[in-house]
Amino acid sequence: MKLEHYIGGTHTPSADGATFEVTDPVTNRPYATVAAGGAADVDRAVAAATEAFAGWSDLPARVRAAVLNRIADCIEARADAIAESETFDTGLPVTQARGQAARAAENFRFFADMTVTLHEDAFRSPGQLGYVIRRPAGVAGLITPWNTPFMLESWKLAPALAAGCTVVLKPAEWTPLSASLLPEIMTEAGLPDGVFNIVHGIGEQAGAALVTHPAVPRLSFTGETSTGQTIMAAAAPHLKGLSMELGGKSPCLIFADADLDRAVDSALFGVFSLNGERCTAGSRILADRRIYPELVSRLGERAGRIRVGDPSDPATEIGALVHPEHYARVLSYVQAGRDEGARLVAGGGRPDGLPAGNYLAATVFADVTPDMRVFREEIFGPVVCVTPFDGEAEAVELANATRYGLAAYIWTSDLARAHRVAHAVESGMTWINSHNVRDLRTPFGGVKASGLGREGGAHSLDFYTETRIVHVALGDTHVPRLGA
Ligand code: NAD
Repeated sequence: MKLEHYIGGTHTPSADGATFEVTDPVTNRPYATVAAGGAADVDRAVAAATEAFAGWSDLPARVRAAVLNRIADCIEARADAIAESETFDTGLPVTQARGQAARAAENFRFFADMTVTLHEDAFRSPGQLGYVIRRPAGVAGLITPWNTPFMLESWKLAPALAAGCTVVLKPAEWTPLSASLLPEIMTEAGLPDGVFNIVHGIGEQAGAALVTHPAVPRLSFTGETSTGQTIMAAAAPHLKGLSMELGGKSPCLIFADADLDRAVDSALFGVFSLNGERCTAGSRILADRRIYPELVSRLGERAGRIRVGDPSDPATEIGALVHPEHYARVLSYVQAGRDEGARLVAGGGRPDGLPAGNYLAATVFADVTPDMRVFREEIFGPVVCVTPFDGEAEAVELANATRYGLAAYIWTSDLARAHRVAHAVESGMTWINSHNVRDLRTPFGGVKASGLGREGGAHSLDFYTETRIVHVALGDTHVPRLGA
C-alpha cells in the first residue's frame, strides 16, 4: 500500500520522492510506504491552503456548517471501515475504535452547530459603542499524535474548518492510515480543494517545517510535553498562536466512603481502555489506607482477567501497543517499577498465548511511592500505580506530586469534600464520581506540564479566529487639544 500527501485536492508524492515505512502492531511488519514530507511539501500545502482561504472563509457560516454536517454523514457511512483501519494501524480494541469513529462524526456536527450560533459581543457606554468582529485566523497547522488518531484529527479539523480556517494536517508517522481516508470524505462532502491538506512525514522534518512556516499563524499540537516545548521554542520567532495539549499522569482518588464497586470499574476503565495509551488515563490510583488492601486485591484480581489479544476481536479489552519502540519503552517502565521496589500485583509482561505483537498484560503496581519514576512519569500504556493516603490533605499532596496536571478523578460520597478536593487538585479537568465523560462544550486542556491553552466548544473557535474590536463614538468625544 502507498500513502501520499494530499495537497490542493490532489494525491501527490514528496517533492524529493522520500518515503518511510509503517508497520502494524500485531505483526510489526511493514504494511505501507508513506510519502515523507519536507519543507518543499509543506510549502506546497500551505500555498494551496492560502489560495483556498478567501473562498472558504468568506462563505456564510450556514454554508460551511452544511459541509461539516456532510463530513459527519460521510464518516458515519464509513464508521466500520474507519474503525477497522484504526484498529489495524494502532492496535486499539475494535469496539473502542468504533466509539472513537462515532465521536469523530459528532465533533463535526457539534462544531457545525457552534459556528452558526456563534455571536459576538458589543459594549455600550454613554459616549461609545464597541463591537467585536471575528475573523478566521488563516491557515492552521494541525499536528496530531498516534493515540486515537482519527478522533484527535477530527477534534482539530472540525473547529478549524467551522471557524473558516484552511488547514494543513500532519498526522503521526506511526499511524497515518485512518487520515488517508479523509480526502475521499472531504471531497464527497463538497469541501473545496485546498481547504484541507495533508502532509505526512516525520515530526522533526514535516512537523518542524509546518511549525516554522511564516504563513501558518495557528498551530494546534497534541503530543508529548517535550515535543510541545520544542515546538513552542521553534514557533516563538514567528509569534504564532499555539494550542498545546500535552502529556498527563492523572490521579484517581478513592476515599473510604466511595461506592467501591463503581470506583473500581471506573478506575480500571480509566487506565486500561484505549490500551492505556490515553492522555487522560487515571494512571495513579490513590486510595484511603482504610480501603487500600481491599482495593489493591480487587484491582489486581480484575486486571488479571482483562482480555488482552487481537485488537480486531470484539472480545478484546486491551489490544497491541502501537509500535515496538513504544512497547519497549512501556516495558522499561515495568522494569523500573520492579527495580524501585513497587509491588507487582498483576501483569508485568507478555500474556500467555501471544508470542508475537506488542502485547502487555494489564499491569498493577501497589505500594508505589512518589519518588518512583512510575509514579511521576507518563508511561502511556496499560500500567497503573496504586498508592495509599491518610486523610484528605495527603491525598491532595500526592495528587499534585507530579509535573503534570491534565485530568483528575475523585470518588467519594461526601459532597463538600468532593468539591474541596476538586478545587485543590492541580488539573485542567476533574471528574467527581465518574470516568472521563465529556460534554463537547466544556474546556479541554491541562495545567502545569500538561499544556497551554484550552480547546473545546467556544474555546476552540476562539483559537481559530482573531477577534477585533471596533470602537464607535456616539457623540462628540472629548479630545484634548494639544498645541491649540
Ligand atoms: P509526539 O510528541 O511524539 O508526536 C506528536 C506529533 O508531533 C506527531 O505527529 C509527530 O510527528 C510530531 N512531532 C514530533 N516532533 C516534532 C517537531 N520537532 N516539530 C513538529 N512536530 C513534531 O507524541 P506521540 O508519542 O505521538 O503521542 C503521545 C503523547 O501525546 C503522550 O504524551 C500523550 O499524553 C499526548 N496526548 C495528549 C493529549 C491531550 O489532549 N493533552 C491527547 C492525546 C495524546
